[in-house]
Amino acid sequence: MSEVELEDQDILSREDRAAEENRSLLVSNHVRAFDIMGATGSGKTAIIERINERLPDGLQMGAVAGDVTGSADYDRFKKAGIPAYNLNTESKCHLDAELVRKSLKALPLTELDILFVENVGNLICPANFPLGCEKEIVVVSLTEGDDMVRKQPKMFLQSSLLVINKVYLAQAVGVDPERPREDYLKINPDGDVIFTNARDGTGIDELIQALNL
Ligand code: MG
Ligand code: ZN
Repeated sequence: MSEVELEDQDILSREDRAAEENRSLLVSNHVRAFDIMGATGSGKTAIIERINERLPDGLQMGAVAGDVTGSADYDRFKKAGIPAYNLNTESKCHLDAELVRKSLKALPLTELDILFVENVGNLICPANFPLGCEKEIVVVSLTEGDDMVRKQPKMFLQSSLLVINKVYLAQAVGVDPERPREDYLKINPDGDVIFTNARDGTGIDELIQALNL
């Protein structure tokens, strides 16, 4: 029996263990955390800003600005009054659980109810690194075309919610917003899909509802 236990332990990778530690830290502080993934320019930061503006009274959210370098997103969060941590990966194109731990240690977790972890702009490898969040959310923009779900299914498959942003551009870019929605629900029938325009706040209330905030 102890052999089986050892084997199970071995199967849990270092990444999974680090993610589990984050999860415990978040749960013990009663913080619901969401990993926001998506390509650069898809609108991840804007969506977090809009959610903050429309968050039900009494809820305090924080944000982790995951970027390779710089503080552009972090500066936006601070400007919006959101407690934030600037998490630069330096060279890595994804966040990992140990990096995120640094932000969890630095943020006032006891004062937060919700934490948005904005991953590095990338549709591929963040999918391989669990962070210990409650849900993984993918944001796509119609400017990326209509075949992103079919091309990179892994991230979509393991997420529980797809945000299709910039739907006001559908005609201009000649992309049918239903296409990525159908592709997503085909591989992930239990997932939710929300259409948004982060610029004017369209769909943000539905997103807040879908996240049960
Ligand atoms: Mg951003
Ligand atoms: Zn990477």
